[in-house]
Amino acid sequence: MLLGAHVSISGSIAKSVDRAKELGCTTFQIFTRNPRGWRAQKLKESEVEEFRRRRREEGYTVVVAHMPYLPNIASPKQDSWRKSVSVLIEELRRCDALGIEYLVCHLGSHLGKGVQVGIERVAKAVNEALGKVETGCVLLLENMAGQKGSVGSRFEEMREIFARIEQPDRVGVCLDTCHLYAAGYDIRSEAGLEETLRSFDENVGLGKLKVLHLNDSKGGLGSGLDRHEHIGHGHIGKEGFRRIINHRHLRDLPMIIETPEDEKGDYSYDLSVLRSLRQMVSEPHEVPFEGHSRVRPLDAQRCQDLQVRRRRRLDAPPRGGAHVRIGGPVQVRLLPLGGGGDGGDAARELRLERRLRLRR
Ligand SMILES: [Zn+2]
Ligand SMILES: [Zn+2]
Repeated sequence: MLLGAHVSISGSIAKSVDRAKELGCTTFQIFTRNPRGWRAQKLKESEVEEFRRRRREEGYTVVVAHMPYLPNIASPKQDSWRKSVSVLIEELRRCDALGIEYLVCHLGSHLGKGVQVGIERVAKAVNEALGKVETGCVLLLENMAGQKGSVGSRFEEMREIFARIEQPDRVGVCLDTCHLYAAGYDIRSEAGLEETLRSFDENVGLGKLKVLHLNDSKGGLGSGLDRHEHIGHGHIGKEGFRRIINHRHLRDLPMIIETPEDEKGDYSYDLSVLRSLRQMVSEPHEVPFEGHSRVRPLDAQRCQDLQVRRRRRLDAPPRGGAHVRIGGPVQVRLLPLGGGGDGGDAARELRLERRLRLRR
């Protein structure tokens, strides 16, 4: 399961890896810089190298970055829109340098000029930024909570944005559960979750969905409030999250919490709640998205479980006293019985190999 939190880069960007590891995260999200200002300090080469080395050492396959707070790529005001696009370009470059897979960007606010204006501005910003930067980092547009003036809280609006994007392969979506609920998508109920995903698929396409932000919602259904709550303490609730994180279309996505740290709990609390809600699946692994030719890897937890089961079955020495040694998940070696033997080794090895093949 790819599950993590938005962790701090305080001290150095590489320290985020330590923080993620300490929390037991299998993926994580960062700001590449202080998120409260317009200007960023230039990345130092040593800092880039240290981050790349640390994440490689810890085996993080997916790292997500989040845009700072101030930019608004939907802004109708030319100067603030221009500044926002500059930051977007700069962040794409920083992510590329750091080897970060996804950059999440809020869709923003049209500041009263109407959704249609916002849609045009967002599409123009994305096209301009991607036109200026060659990068492997995929830009993810995050759904909004439906606040007054917001663009892209409805999938129909996202559809219109995607229709205007010139390089759609470089753009995906990050869905925030709190924002979905606040915008009126009833993902708390089973029927509501199915309907939400159906509508997303119809308007945007499930293949575009790359990351989930898991936050419970302080605000009610359709409240338009972007107020994150601890998992299980808000309107979505534990049962809601159980369905979300185990859903066949969502379970293999990287999932990031952005929950508050207060007297009610912290990241470790929310992560442990989510882990306890995760169900093991026994059915054959399913390729989650239509039109996806790539088979997704098993998640780490399930790989571990399979290995443990395999080991349990194989650790007992077979009758006849030969010692079987298991190296890694699927390798099996028989040690020679010593002296001429009777050909039993080879036969046993064959049988074992066949059994393993059947299990794989
Ligand atoms: Zn979010
Ligand atoms: Zn939010």
